Amino acid sequence: EDPLRNSDSREAPQFIPLIIGHERRESQQQHEVRDPYRGDVVAYAPICSDADCDAALEAAFRAKTAMAAMPGHERAALLRQAALNVEAIAEPAARAMTRESGKALKDSLVEVKRSADTLRLFAEEAVRIQGEHIPMDATAISAGKLGMLLRFPVGVVAAITPFNAPVNLTAHKLGPALAAGNSIVLKPSPKAPLSFHLFVEAVAAAGFPAGAINTVYGDNAAAQIVKDPRVDFVSFTGSVAVGKLIRNSVGMKRVTLELGGIGPTFVHRDADMEVAARTCARNAVAVTGQSCVSVQNVFVHQDLYEVFSEAVCRELDTIRFGDPMNMNTDVGTLIDEAAAVRVQTMIDDAIGQGARPLRTGPRNGSQLPGTVLANVNDTMDVIAREIFGPVMSIRPYREIEPHFRAISESPYGLQCGIFTNSLDLALSAVRNIRTGGVIVNGTSRWRSDQMPYGGVKDSGMGREGSRYSTQDMTEERFVVFN
Ligand code: NAD
Repeated sequence: EDPLRNSDSREAPQFIPLIIGHERRESQQQHEVRDPYRGDVVAYAPICSDADCDAALEAAFRAKTAMAAMPGHERAALLRQAALNVEAIAEPAARAMTRESGKALKDSLVEVKRSADTLRLFAEEAVRIQGEHIPMDATAISAGKLGMLLRFPVGVVAAITPFNAPVNLTAHKLGPALAAGNSIVLKPSPKAPLSFHLFVEAVAAAGFPAGAINTVYGDNAAAQIVKDPRVDFVSFTGSVAVGKLIRNSVGMKRVTLELGGIGPTFVHRDADMEVAARTCARNAVAVTGQSCVSVQNVFVHQDLYEVFSEAVCRELDTIRFGDPMNMNTDVGTLIDEAAAVRVQTMIDDAIGQGARPLRTGPRNGSQLPGTVLANVNDTMDVIAREIFGPVMSIRPYREIEPHFRAISESPYGLQCGIFTNSLDLALSAVRNIRTGGVIVNGTSRWRSDQMPYGGVKDSGMGREGSRYSTQDMTEERFVVFN
């Protein structure tokens, strides 16, 4: 009998209220949020009516003036306080995240604590929003004038987030919106709304003006906020399919889209093979592969192919899969059983088309073991489409450049990794792979919160990262003094 199954990890289900200004409102409709490992109800999440959604938008719209009038040092101080508040609830928020999403508790704790640091990065940006002096003497007609580019808050930000990092990805929307002096309406994933709510409450408790921070829930709410004329900027993180829908419904609003990828990572002949194998294995199954940059497509120089594949499988054997609430567990479940079935089907289809599993195992409810596939080709879904599960495919190569080209020509372009000790090869990857980021001597799965992060092509547009998203959530105004 697993002792944790009847431990105090089962807290009574929580009702999540809407945050509308300083009001906490219960929606008329709710849906159950279930623990994907234990199966019990963890929370009841709201489903907004049109009127709830309108109230949130109106509150944000009214708060624009107060936010725009607040000086940067005050916004910075509130964001620093928000970071402390988040640290104070790190454990309950992490437990909530693990219960609702099946993410290993260790990882949930890291994410919540990291989100406090993310907020601190944005606190710094709040006092760093800068314009520019434009040299008006560059042309005869403007010589003698004084030209300046100034930045102002955009106004109201609408933010929609996915389930896989429900707190830190919210910090990447809330942080820049508040740092730049905007108000915000947030719409989380229905699959992980409780940790999101606890995080947003902790930020709101820092004391932002009424209406600066609002939450809405449900598909209708998502559709309503991206279209509403009171919204000036839409920030979305999620799948390519939904990203495209959003792009088509925002009209002239500015938009940032952080979408999916297929995690390409190269391991060249001159790389440290052991390090590469360990890092690839860990980053293919971390958070059960549910990361937009998860290692999915590995290309290995043919001389290393056999030893590398064996080393990856050996490393996977050391990773502890199991009860997400157990602090010794490395990898918990997928977000729900439907997701595990979807990934299993992709694996089975690939095997049906000739892929050879080097390591796999049976699905158990929402749990899946780490799977490694060989003998794969470009037409298989496990190669060409985002898996979002703990699955890695390994292909040997003789010439690396054709694969750089193939990755560049694929619809995705989020991040790629390359393990090599050759500076020339690393530079060739940087020049020739069309992607939002190149990680040298690391895998595709790597992010720090200040760096410019985002994709090209179907993987999205715009960049997150403290300085970039804060600046994006401002609008430029040119001023000339005659
Ligand atoms: P999803 O696209 O299904 O959902 C994302 C959000 O959009 C959720 O809040 C969802 O409720 C909402 N949504 C769904 N339909 C909508 C519609 N028609 N209009 C408006 N909103 C709608 O994604 P998911 O399954 O929650 O998350 C996984 C995806 O997110 C993966 O594709 C992953 O690659 C991507 N992701 C990208 C990044 C990044 O920074 N690039 C980070 C994490 C996850």
